[in-house]
Amino acid sequence: MGLKQSLRKLAYSSGFLHRYHNNKNHDALTVVLFHRVLPENSPEWETADPEWTVTREFFQECLEFFQKHYSVVSFPQVLDHYQNSTPLPGHSLLITFDDGWKCNLKHAAPLLSQFGFPAVVFVTSGAMGKSILSWQEALFALWKSGKLDDGKIAAMSQVLNMALPTGITSRAQYNQLLGILRGLPPKKRRLLDPSLIKWTEDLPGVPLMLEKEELIQLQEHGIHIGSHGVTHESLVRVDDAHQELQTSRQTLEAIPGQDQPILCFSPPQGQYDQETLKTAYTLGYQCACTNRSGLNPVCQHDGIIDLGRINIDQPYLLNERGTLDASKLASLLFRQPILDHV
Ligand SMILES: [Zn+2]
Repeated sequence: MGLKQSLRKLAYSSGFLHRYHNNKNHDALTVVLFHRVLPENSPEWETADPEWTVTREFFQECLEFFQKHYSVVSFPQVLDHYQNSTPLPGHSLLITFDDGWKCNLKHAAPLLSQFGFPAVVFVTSGAMGKSILSWQEALFALWKSGKLDDGKIAAMSQVLNMALPTGITSRAQYNQLLGILRGLPPKKRRLLDPSLIKWTEDLPGVPLMLEKEELIQLQEHGIHIGSHGVTHESLVRVDDAHQELQTSRQTLEAIPGQDQPILCFSPPQGQYDQETLKTAYTLGYQCACTNRSGLNPVCQHDGIIDLGRINIDQPYLLNERGTLDASKLASLLFRQPILDHV
């Protein structure tokens, strides 16, 4: 064990980090970000990106950690605090999920209910009921499951009328192909969508994205719904960010039985700018959950609320036994700077 690691473990086990957190973060809102939650033995691991997926077991350990060190709050509580100065409990924490994966309902929601924790799920409205989130996740799933063969590359080359590299096996080769496709004008790249969707339908565990009716079930677990755009394209790169924000909100609000207004969004791929916030505000959004790194000050606020979030990255937070290293999570969350505004 390295010196740094030993010191961190000592700082946690001695209660030093906890006392530091008690003092420094009493008046701060911590917002954490998850994506997929899968049981260790789920066949969906065959296609899931470990950078954006946690095991159900690890997720439960995170919830135990939150129970010990935080007051988990709901989105309405957060909104009521910033808009009406209703106090938040000390050390408040909001749990969020991006994208709208089915596993949020199947595996995360029951655990959240068990702990009595509310949460927010940001749904990509155009992906509801689809086999997979977007072309990038489809390509990744094909590659990871060993099904991105030269036959498929040839078919893609033909559709695009350009030669793509073949023999894609390593992550580096996959990344090179991804880079080429990302660099194409979106209109041209979208020509691949039908094939990618068709190919992913044969993969284990699909369909993967939440369906409309399942959003109602999420709400029954005390989970709020937010928007994550329509197509999962970056709001600073897409042709019409206004349309992405407006249509996603309208689609989610029009779901029968879904009676909450959609007041919050999370920018796909974490990309946004001041223009995005302005557009969102004019469309009626009150809050953005972004990827600004840090804790949020608690204070009254006019205008759109921009909440910083911390991504929970399982590979980084594991110990040698493959379980949550609580000292690492404490160090990651407790020591974040408090942002100067929301
Ligand atoms: Zn996303």
